[in-house]
Amino acid sequence: MRTHDNAALACAAALGPVMCVYIVEPSYWRSPDTSQRQFDFLRECLRDLFVQLKACGVRLHVVTGEVTEVLTRLQHAHTFSHLHSHEETGNGMTYERDKAVARWCATHGVRWQEHVQTGVVRRLPSRNTWTALWTQRMQAPQLSTPVMTPAPWPWPEERWPDWPSWGLAPDAAPQRQTGGRQAAIQTLQSFLNTRSGQYRGGISSPLSATSACSRLSPYLSWGCLSMREVVQATEQTLSQPDLDPWTRKGLVAFTSRLHWHCHFMQKLESEPAIEMRNMHRGYDGLREGDWNAEHFERLRTATTGWPLVDACVTMLQQTGWLNFRMRAMLVSVAAYPLWLHWKEVGHWLAGQFVDYEPGIHWSQMQMQSGTTGINTTRVYNPIKQAQDHDPQGVFVRRWLPVLRQVPDTWLFEPWKMPPSVQAQCGVVVGPQGGAHVGAHWPEPVVDLPAATRTAKALLHARRNTPQVREGKQAIIEQHASRRATPPTKRRHTPTAVEDKQIQWDF
Ligand SMILES: Cc1cc2nc3c(=O)[nH]c(=O)nc-3n(C[C@H](O)[C@H](O)[C@H](O)COP(=O)(O)OP(=O)(O)OC[C@H]3O[C@@H](n4cnc5c(N)ncnc54)[C@H](O)[C@@H]3O)c2cc1C
Repeated sequence: MRTHDNAALACAAALGPVMCVYIVEPSYWRSPDTSQRQFDFLRECLRDLFVQLKACGVRLHVVTGEVTEVLTRLQHAHTFSHLHSHEETGNGMTYERDKAVARWCATHGVRWQEHVQTGVVRRLPSRNTWTALWTQRMQAPQLSTPVMTPAPWPWPEERWPDWPSWGLAPDAAPQRQTGGRQAAIQTLQSFLNTRSGQYRGGISSPLSATSACSRLSPYLSWGCLSMREVVQATEQTLSQPDLDPWTRKGLVAFTSRLHWHCHFMQKLESEPAIEMRNMHRGYDGLREGDWNAEHFERLRTATTGWPLVDACVTMLQQTGWLNFRMRAMLVSVAAYPLWLHWKEVGHWLAGQFVDYEPGIHWSQMQMQSGTTGINTTRVYNPIKQAQDHDPQGVFVRRWLPVLRQVPDTWLFEPWKMPPSVQAQCGVVVGPQGGAHVGAHWPEPVVDLPAATRTAKALLHARRNTPQVREGKQAIIEQHASRRATPPTKRRHTPTAVEDKQIQWDF
């Protein structure tokens, strides 16, 4: 979704006349992890890209169809010899499509060149070299928008598709971020120039996170900005000698997240099956047979009865974005007290996120659900999270108007409110689906402490089986990040051998 720092475009332009085509693929948009809000965002990106290319004298063609079918149509319009695209780490559907494109190219004598665009490495031989490769790529010079000669081939004008014409459920997010490179650059500049001072200390609370976080995720996922461009702009800001220490710390922490972006995507690139099955096969069968449709429905419709959870889901429905901690909390609530398998929950959340990036998403879904076999189990208590990150209840009251009059004492646990207080604040707490007069708040979907205890016990019992213990090392080899032990965490002076030891995290 950019002409700047676009290796595919630069290489194609250097070879001769260029035809720029964006293919809207029906099979992609029918996948369970896509949604109208993503499609709406994409249309805005395409409009912006149209303008970027028009400034270069080239027309953007938006074509609807499956890729190989469109390539055949293109070959009929004009025989071409080269196809340039970026490497993509997408979902299972796009992986299969890429294999079909490779077959089509082989059959039609077309040379398909896929260009690197992030720090994700195709056919990575070993994780040990990954960080060095990432750094090398991020330090390479950015490519300018190329000078292009438009291809004079005939191609019929097509109307850009609208979401309703696809016949899928509408799911717009009225308060989502705006798509396109122009909006992306404004967001990057406002973060680097002003907002990054709030990054340290501001990203965990759902209240401050909306402005303290960079908000670059949809622009990175859709390619409105290149990862290298963001890394280099951040380094440039960091090189300013008069930068205040708080901003400096914030930008250093932000740079680690940019690294994580590719680190997590690398997991799916190296093992595409983690979209479908547990990263550690020793966890197979743990939740699969226990699907509880009511639990899922209560989560999806923001009626769990736990105010912070329901406020987060409501915000997600409206904006298509949540900060990391609240995403992790939602998945933890789904995976432990509600005991839901990550796959169905992951499809629903993927569609909710405008910034859906399969590599990050599925790795995180498994990590927060405890099925990677290599991560510490993190179980978030939604009551404690609310007390820590929304102590005055501003966030909860903003997204759940029904609770606005509930006094602070009961705001995060309304089911404990005495009847007299319920009458005073006009909120009746009762079972979901019962007959209620006036404003109703549902009782919690399950007893939180008891359900969490049961879930932890089940997980830990599985973790201690020989099958799980034995399978761990192979996953560490393939997926864990390599990081030298930070000096502050060492308990004693290290020997030379220990100094070279690797700490496994994530
Ligand atoms: C269950 C779950 C699912 C997630 N799904 C996605 C997803 O589909 N797409 C997505 O971009 N992020 C995802 N994340 C990671 C993270 O929550 C978002 O990247 C972040 O909230 C985006 O906001 P931001 O751009 O303001 O983040 P910032 O804090 O400003 O971070 C800057 C960039 O670093 C990257 N980043 C930040 N945190 C992480 C992380 N923990 N892992 C990997 N990369 C990170 C993102 O590209 C982000 O845009 C997920 C996290 C969880 C727990």
